[in-house]
Amino acid sequence: MASRIIPVDPFDLVVFGGTGDLARRKILPALFRRFCAGQMEEGTRIIGAARSDMDDAEYRAFVAEALIEFNGDHSGCEPGTITRFQQILSYVTLDARGDKGWGELAAKMHPGRVRAFYFSVGPSLFGDLALRLHQHGMADHDTRIVVEKPFGRDLASARALNKALADHFDESQIYRIDHYLGKETVQNLMALRFGNMLFEPLWNSHYVDHIQITVAETVGVGGRGDYYDRAGAMRDMVQNHLMQLLCLIAMEPPAKFDPDAVRDEKLKVIRALGEVDPAQIVRGQYLEDEDKPGYLEHVENPKSLTESFIALKLHVINWRWAGTPFYVRTGKRLKARTSEIAVVFKEAPHNIFDQDSGRHRNILTIRLQPNEGIDLDVTIKEPGPGGMRLVDVPLDMTFTEALGPDAEDVPDAYERLIMDVVRGNQTLFMRGDEVEAAWAWTDPIVAAWEEREDKPLSYETGSSGPDEALALMHKDGRKWRDIRA
Ligand code: NAP
Repeated sequence: MASRIIPVDPFDLVVFGGTGDLARRKILPALFRRFCAGQMEEGTRIIGAARSDMDDAEYRAFVAEALIEFNGDHSGCEPGTITRFQQILSYVTLDARGDKGWGELAAKMHPGRVRAFYFSVGPSLFGDLALRLHQHGMADHDTRIVVEKPFGRDLASARALNKALADHFDESQIYRIDHYLGKETVQNLMALRFGNMLFEPLWNSHYVDHIQITVAETVGVGGRGDYYDRAGAMRDMVQNHLMQLLCLIAMEPPAKFDPDAVRDEKLKVIRALGEVDPAQIVRGQYLEDEDKPGYLEHVENPKSLTESFIALKLHVINWRWAGTPFYVRTGKRLKARTSEIAVVFKEAPHNIFDQDSGRHRNILTIRLQPNEGIDLDVTIKEPGPGGMRLVDVPLDMTFTEALGPDAEDVPDAYERLIMDVVRGNQTLFMRGDEVEAAWAWTDPIVAAWEEREDKPLSYETGSSGPDEALALMHKDGRKWRDIRA
């Protein structure tokens, strides 16, 4: 099976914040890999823009360095490709808050072709960029803007950001990135649910006991302490990434695979989320470990009450999910770096086998990282003599094994999402009302613990979080899956 690369018409992509960390680590390497793959037609241009003084040659050298540092071994490119890629790069020195550089940028635009502006800058500059694009005649119907997380820190700030963008752009031009939605497996989750007859009849509270979503990191907050301490795991991860995964698991089948049809269904899930009982929330902060500082050493405030770990039990209050809890957890400095969704089915209603055969459940696991793929645990007879002993074995659909080398070449999330922007496909981007609904659900939960000055529990580096998070499931007679790479 040959990979299908469909080139897109020449486009102009401006990376505001083109000298920043995200541009160097993710955006520019992603663009380079699409260039390597032959997806960019002759004439495509990528323009970096930031306040730093640089000419085109200096920017090209800057990008080449970033590619060497961050492209890893996913090079797959012919020798000399970096030099060819450099030819499509240029740079404008520009201030989002002043007049400098805007005339030069406007003069570079090709009328009549798709142009995308990637706002890889802090959210406090989103409004300034939108306004100046408008003032300098670059906010026409061929324009798309891409905005990064965090999209606000509460409902009021998200509304203000939405308004600042909506003053100059239509919703159909705004692409709010959540890179979790760009992952291959996340899209496969939709293919699995809505392309097969097998799962959908069972996808409800009659057959599903509970759902677990885990996003575990081994790193601490590192150099992002300032930002992180104002956000915490709830705002940084649950409100966006975990919420999006939950929506894709819980949503009703959309009428078609079309941006608004999919986003309408996701929105209904967010609006159906119930209030969360504070007793069903566990918050934690990692402790220091030998040479690694603890959370409180990473941030300025030694008495910070911000959580680096959170586990919650949620309910989607609708006909499909009444009675099926969703357990979600995410945290830093945990045992392993792993992200997965596990759909745990109920036990068979009657056990015809020996009681000693144990309790068995089918579990569908969607692995987002590492080693993207989907497993289905099924119960079979343990081979060999000695009676009917049952054992659970995974039907493993690791994509690289099932689909061969093509599966190794799948674009990463940023590659896919940036090319979706160019193609004008908003399916994998969050709509403004979705983001606001997610904040409307998050705000009272955060406000409640802020008001009572809730102190996060401590947990060891390399653990699964505070023991109380394990108890959250144990008291329901359930247990978290092991966090392992
Ligand atoms: P960063 O390293 O601080 O880069 C910020 C960029 O914005 C720099 O290129 C900076 O260049 C430019 N900039 C700052 N003020 C400007 C102004 N007034 N006019 C024009 N350009 C200006 O930040 P980052 O880590 O790349 O993050 C960028 C955005 O992505 C943020 O919203 C962040 O929350 C989000 N994000 C980042 C990551 C990540 O892994 N880094 C992950 C997810 C989301 P000059 O100083 O030269 O102007």
